[in-house]
Amino acid sequence: MDLVKAKKHLGQHFLKDESIAHKIAESLSDNVGNVLEIGPGMGVLTKYVLQQKRPNFWVIEIDGESVEYLKNHYPALENHIYFGDFLKLDLSELFSSEKFAVIGNFPYNISSQILFKVFDNRNQIPEVVGMFQKEVAERVAAKPGSKIYGILSVLLSVYYDIEYLFTVSENVFNPPPKVKSAVIRLTRNNVEKLNCDEKLFVQVVKAGFNQRRKTLRNALKALNKNLENIPERFLQSRAEQLSANEFIEITKVLENEQ
Ligand code: SAH
Repeated sequence: MDLVKAKKHLGQHFLKDESIAHKIAESLSDNVGNVLEIGPGMGVLTKYVLQQKRPNFWVIEIDGESVEYLKNHYPALENHIYFGDFLKLDLSELFSSEKFAVIGNFPYNISSQILFKVFDNRNQIPEVVGMFQKEVAERVAAKPGSKIYGILSVLLSVYYDIEYLFTVSENVFNPPPKVKSAVIRLTRNNVEKLNCDEKLFVQVVKAGFNQRRKTLRNALKALNKNLENIPERFLQSRAEQLSANEFIEITKVLENEQ
């Protein structure tokens, strides 16, 4: 069977450098057990994960032609190829309630949505190793005070330790994307629950960054709550200056307000 011809609308940029595929697979911790690979394409990364002999290893791929290719070339995957959309996947279908790590050279057009889904399912996902567009990787790993620090940096940093592992040139892909790429690793920390209303916390972070050039006094008006009891030093700040813990402090104040 011929190679799969890249489909732009599916974010297909196939990695052609074996050593980078190997390095990504090796960045996954030994102790995480089960693994899900998102968007295996023609399996360049898949074959290195297969060598690790994980207890339960699934791949999910939305492109039928890639699925056919994988079936023909990786018999060891057997019936662990799921033909479908990761964003629509009910995770319990593949892993029931067991934990699993996520790996992939991800489709860049849905990077944020993948990360929001990880955030929503954080108690089932102990680790993520993935390649993203470099800018997205940098944003996710950004710390307070930086211009690129944003919603995903705050939300993910509450539950994950985030490491920027390495940068990857556009020339190792077929076809080359317009941007550089980077691999990051998220490792679940031991925070179980925030001691504040988590839904409200997410709303506060989103409202703060939706108008990121404004002070929180103005940006948080969108929440339609009394802001008077929030400490002045926070109201005068912009979202990008605050740590996740400071957003939690704000949330605790707002929980008690109308
Ligand atoms: N891992 C391969 C392919 C990366 S390109 C490699 O490194 O060469 C991204 C892959 O994600 C493509 O195969 C594309 O078909 C797949 N994909 C795109 N959207 C998807 C989705 N929503 N769910 C699952 N796979 C998806």
